[in-house]
Amino acid sequence: MLPRLIIVVPCYNEQEVLPVTAPLFREKLISLADAGKISADSRVMFVNDGSKDSTWEIIERLSKEDEHYIGISQSRNRGHQNAVLAGLMEAKDMCDITISIDCDGQDDINAMDKMVEEYLNGCEIVYGVRSARKTDTFFKRNTARGFYKLLNFMGAEVVYDHADYRLVSSRVLQEFANFKEVNLFLRGMFPLVGFKSTSVYYERSERLAGKSHYPLSKMLNLAFDGITSLSIKPIKMILGLGMIIAVLSFVGVIWAVVQHFLGNTITGWASTVCILCFFSGVQLISIGVIGEYIGKIYMEVKQRPRYIISDRTYDKQENADNE
Ligand code: UDP
Ligand code: MG
Repeated sequence: MLPRLIIVVPCYNEQEVLPVTAPLFREKLISLADAGKISADSRVMFVNDGSKDSTWEIIERLSKEDEHYIGISQSRNRGHQNAVLAGLMEAKDMCDITISIDCDGQDDINAMDKMVEEYLNGCEIVYGVRSARKTDTFFKRNTARGFYKLLNFMGAEVVYDHADYRLVSSRVLQEFANFKEVNLFLRGMFPLVGFKSTSVYYERSERLAGKSHYPLSKMLNLAFDGITSLSIKPIKMILGLGMIIAVLSFVGVIWAVVQHFLGNTITGWASTVCILCFFSGVQLISIGVIGEYIGKIYMEVKQRPRYIISDRTYDKQENADNE
């Protein structure tokens, strides 16, 4: 039997670009079905992430006009990662494979052919990897490169230049559902699930319309979240730093005592202040990093829901019954 595919598309304030890209997703589904790779009842699922513009109205209209479109809506804006998760968790019981992709047309839809092929060859996760970043600005390209370098250096294993354009089988998603953390960094979490995986390369182009929701500040946040969600290396680094500084201070104390007995001591206000500033800086940074982890633990123990679906364009029960 042919696998049923659901393309999961997170949308936040995308009224400009959605009408442009929605038909492209639909055409891709139809061409894949015509090629005999996926079943004809495959769908495009839009996840409205609490948009403040008319995104949800557009999704509702699309789903009324064409059966290929379905949509769910989050009760409020929760961010890209939670929106993707909501879509994947919703889709996992309705299909055999999911592909998550942004709705702005930046990720090459044609890479889906290769992704589905890799799935049919036995891969359960297929990462979409950007082969070129020609259209990104110099700044974005280099901050993004720094982002992956930093992540890997800090012990969060991520596929280089893979964002959240990815094919995942429902079998993997069933296992993934057991990863209960609320601090989400999906691209770093899927490699942890295991299963046979591969990468497919594509060129990333410019947004077809609308504006990016990922300015530098959000990128930095995502990087920091990725590191502290997936790795405890920063805490270990603090320990290492502490030890190095302890050794240096020990040497400093000996030096000071020797100087004292040699009669070289003068009122060293400047050096005292420098040392004081340095150590209080190190301590504050260290406490800050540890605090970040404690904050994460705090959020995790609450076990709050990671997404809340308030609306659907379809009857969930009925859809599950069709299986
Ligand atoms: N997005 C979302 N919730 C948010 C921010 C963004 O669902 O709070 C969606 C957005 O609609 C898009 C995707 O996440 O489909 C990626 O966002 P964007 O294109 O703005 O980021 P960039 O490609 O510039 O990194
Ligand atoms: Mg984008």
